[in-house]
Amino acid sequence: MNKPNPCEAVEEKLSAYLDDELTQQEQQRIYLHIQQCPECSALLQELESMRTDVKDALLTSVDARDLPTILNDQPARWLSWIGWSLFALGFLLVGGFFVWELSRELLTDTGTPWWLRLGVAGLYLGLAVLFLSVLRQRIVARKTDKYKKVNL
Ligand SMILES: [Zn+2]
Repeated sequence: MNKPNPCEAVEEKLSAYLDDELTQQEQQRIYLHIQQCPECSALLQELESMRTDVKDALLTSVDARDLPTILNDQPARWLSWIGWSLFALGFLLVGGFFVWELSRELLTDTGTPWWLRLGVAGLYLGLAVLFLSVLRQRIVARKTDKYKKVNL
């Protein structure tokens, strides 16, 4: 009659015991009980492996959830690639035109003060460098995405 009672109390607190949520005294009491009670010891092991399973299942489901997103993302990837290509083409054409216009103006228009011409040149050059840095970041991000996909 004495035996089921401590086991019942231990079983109720096994979950909290695993989480380390009990007082030190309770933790100690349950630890001692498990040492000498094969049933509760087996129960604890079962609970522990169940938790590991749940953790694994959660991790697996995250991967499984990501997979369709990545597959569905392919058109968006292409659109983004086309968009960036068009943008780069437009930028090169417009930028090239501006650079050509600018250098012509800088060479021929002596009416503009030199510091203003320098400022305009710096403005366009800065914009070009910023654009290139963004483009480079995009390319690097794309490469990283590819690696991620390979890892899956
Ligand atoms: Zn027990």
